[in-house]
Amino acid sequence: MVTVDVVVLGGGAAGLAASRTLLGRGYSVLLVEKEGHTGGRAAGYACKATDDCQQCQVCLVADEARALTGADQLKMLVFSSLKGVQNQNGSFQLDVAQGPICVDPQRCILCGRCVDACPAGAIRLPPPGFPPASASVDPEICRARNAQTCRACVEACPTGAIDLQAAARTHRVRCRAIIVATGFQPFDPRQLPRLGYGRVPGVITAEELERRMRGDPGGLAAFKRVAFVQCVGSRNVTLGRGYCSQVCCRYALRLAARLRRDDPGRRVAIFYMDLQVSGKDVRMRWEELGRGVELIQGAPASIVAGEAEVLVRYEDLRQGRVRQEPFDLVVLSVGMGASPHNVELARLLGLNLDPHRFFATQERGHGSTSRRGVWVAGSAAGPTDIGGAIRQGRSVALAVARQLEDRRHA
Ligand SMILES: Cc1cc2nc3c(=O)[nH]c(=O)nc-3n(C[C@H](O)[C@H](O)[C@H](O)COP(=O)(O)OP(=O)(O)OC[C@H]3O[C@@H](n4cnc5c(N)ncnc54)[C@H](O)[C@@H]3O)c2cc1C
Repeated sequence: MVTVDVVVLGGGAAGLAASRTLLGRGYSVLLVEKEGHTGGRAAGYACKATDDCQQCQVCLVADEARALTGADQLKMLVFSSLKGVQNQNGSFQLDVAQGPICVDPQRCILCGRCVDACPAGAIRLPPPGFPPASASVDPEICRARNAQTCRACVEACPTGAIDLQAAARTHRVRCRAIIVATGFQPFDPRQLPRLGYGRVPGVITAEELERRMRGDPGGLAAFKRVAFVQCVGSRNVTLGRGYCSQVCCRYALRLAARLRRDDPGRRVAIFYMDLQVSGKDVRMRWEELGRGVELIQGAPASIVAGEAEVLVRYEDLRQGRVRQEPFDLVVLSVGMGASPHNVELARLLGLNLDPHRFFATQERGHGSTSRRGVWVAGSAAGPTDIGGAIRQGRSVALAVARQLEDRRHA
């Protein structure tokens, strides 16, 4: 049995910030993360600095992760998720399913030899700076492709860190509060076939562009004409997603500016309905950022394959006619939706969901729910940027700390 003050579900921007704040106040934390490392979605995003910092906030997530290094009141379970909850006199007893964990983090030296040796592509190294610093084996890819016969990674590992026979485990945990920081799901543009995603080569999502830019920005050199398409899966009532995702205009403009900085001769256009960038000084900064980027007011009606390019057909709202333009790469600025797993998690924890299936909170940003002792932070409660997720993580952690303190004195 593991006993901690607070269990934080999800190790993205919000969960890391909540954990850091609680640890700073002397509370013990168990961070439960579904994937093999912390950082959440933003762990795969690129820094969008041009000559100056563009305040995309991506580096803030690594800062939050770094601040947890060596915290002795922190326990972490990766490849883990909640399977059962019981309420016991104001505290909770949880069953957390984990694994199997095939690489021992104490022994892994991140040399990458297992990655090179694996014929199935089942092994990954974590992005630098996001603990735990250990390679991980995807057991589904590994076992499905190699049955029990392949031991290439085991033989390649110089420290004997890999055990392919490792079994899944269930941990029983007792805690006094739970913070749900399980994040969001980007919109899957296959639901809008007219935009060509998955069918037309050269049509990718913004998340895929983020990953390419982070991993190998030089690999984008061949793309001399790049278009962004805004509001893909946002502000679309027909899809049941009438809300604005709040982050897409900002990340698209920043990505566009970075693409132009990397190659000033590159044409970059953004197709938009209307740009959602508000706040003090913000408009001016956007105008500066958007210099050299074509802003085209018109939502594309269709995206199709040309002979050697991608053709964007759109209604030019300023000129009132349909036009078609060729690009090498079309980036769909996908919006933020609720995770499909929210339904099951809400059932386990006895929480309510809002009409868009994000977790319902009593006060947005404050994070309390209808269930005493259970709180929600970050994009699990609705679209927010990294700064917002971090702020919510912190403020929810402070509210939890207050509640635990009150109970201590009660
Ligand atoms: C394409 C794109 C680009 C973006 N670019 C920017 C940008 O440049 N700047 C910016 O400020 N914002 C950006 N955003 C928004 C940014 O992604 C979010 O603000 C941020 O990721 C929210 O952090 P979070 O912790 O709430 O959620 P997440 O990042 O989604 O983290 C949630 C974590 O919880 C884990 N998890 C999920 N379910 C469970 C479970 N059941 N149990 C345990 N763990 C679980 C996940 O694996 C993940 O690690 C972008 C969004 C998109 C879609």
